[in-house]
Amino acid sequence: MGLKVLKFGGSSLADADHFRAVAEIVKADPERRYVVASAPGKRSSTDEKVTDMLYNCYEMAADERDISEVFDAIKQRYDDIIEGLGIDLDLTEVYDKIKHSFLHNSGRDYVASRGEYLNAMILAKYLDYTFIDARKCIFFNDDGAFDAEKTNQVLSSYLAKTPKAVIPGFYGSMPNGTIKTFSRGGSDITGSIVARAASATIYENWTDVSGFLMADPRCIKDPAVINTITYKELRELSYMGATVLHEDAIFPVRYAKIPINIKNTNRPEDRGTFIVPDTDEIPEHVITGVAGRTGFSTITLEKDMMNSELGFGRRVLQAIEENGVSFEHFPSGIDTMTVVMATADLQKKRGDIMASICKAVNPDNIFTEDNLALIAIVGRGMVKAKGTAARIFTALADAGVNIRMIDQGSCELNIIVGVDEHDYIPALKAIYSEFVK
Ligand code: ASP
Repeated sequence: MGLKVLKFGGSSLADADHFRAVAEIVKADPERRYVVASAPGKRSSTDEKVTDMLYNCYEMAADERDISEVFDAIKQRYDDIIEGLGIDLDLTEVYDKIKHSFLHNSGRDYVASRGEYLNAMILAKYLDYTFIDARKCIFFNDDGAFDAEKTNQVLSSYLAKTPKAVIPGFYGSMPNGTIKTFSRGGSDITGSIVARAASATIYENWTDVSGFLMADPRCIKDPAVINTITYKELRELSYMGATVLHEDAIFPVRYAKIPINIKNTNRPEDRGTFIVPDTDEIPEHVITGVAGRTGFSTITLEKDMMNSELGFGRRVLQAIEENGVSFEHFPSGIDTMTVVMATADLQKKRGDIMASICKAVNPDNIFTEDNLALIAIVGRGMVKAKGTAARIFTALADAGVNIRMIDQGSCELNIIVGVDEHDYIPALKAIYSEFVK
């Protein structure tokens, strides 16, 4: 028999009705044995996520402002769920302890983690599953990095003796026992960690959309859902800004080769997207997805005989590194080299970086340009397929878009083009309609 780990996002656990839908999903399949819960999300577009309320409450307490009203509103979110479900659960003592922690400065991560902690307690009670506190089985090192091996060891032994459990997402503990959270959206990572420790056959990530879309719906009308995507393809797309799944959630399951299925709590019958280590399935389209981001800048250097100067590229990149800035790409010509980086990063250090590069390599000419958008066209269907680049460039030319930069990964899984920011949306549209509709 298989074993499934499920993670429900905040919108899937925002109120009692959603809890009921979640319970129906969990109970529909006996293989669904471990459930990771987020904190309650928004119930409507004007509502607030409990995690945001907790952070806000923390800031107010730190400023020595009265937190009673905000804290009561947080309590009310949980009490409404408990009452709506009609379960016999009294959290008064837990609330008092949390309020005390706000007033006695127990740390920002601790208070933020209580959103997941309380929701998981309620869900465990409602499902009649065991509650396992993530503090006891998800660990970080002294330097704050996630301790994958210790976690896997301890968590596996907890799960081995617990047939069915609910585990709060988003946090774990430091070696001194204090709570630390992952970055925002981190319950996705917890789900992946639990899937690995449980040797799950699948990690179902339940959210409020029926999978990954081939393009950003804010730019392309009704983009198609991606049926199947490999971890590698997803990395290429999430790097460029896909938001359904926390990008670090891929690593634990990728290591254990466990597929992820993105599912919609409000439409459980939809197939959703499968994220798999590898697949023989013939992709429906040559491209799996197209994603992009604005807000990039370039530094371009020119120097005669650059290509025969040993260590030239290294010294340029080192000068950038020494200013604490990371770069995205560095396309080059014979006597020119361009380094692409986020404008927000360059902005802070523009003068210093330019001076460091000049000192390091003494270029004939150096200049920066802003307002670049990068677009990643990703697809396993592109590997060894002839003519994909031609189709992309023709589509862009036909749409009147000038290409400022081109970069194709040697794995042939992606082609990245840089265009002016004002061409960003027309370029996305042209590429999408060339390959999809
Ligand atoms: N509740 C946390 C957040 O809002 C973590 C999560 O939902 O994954 O970021």
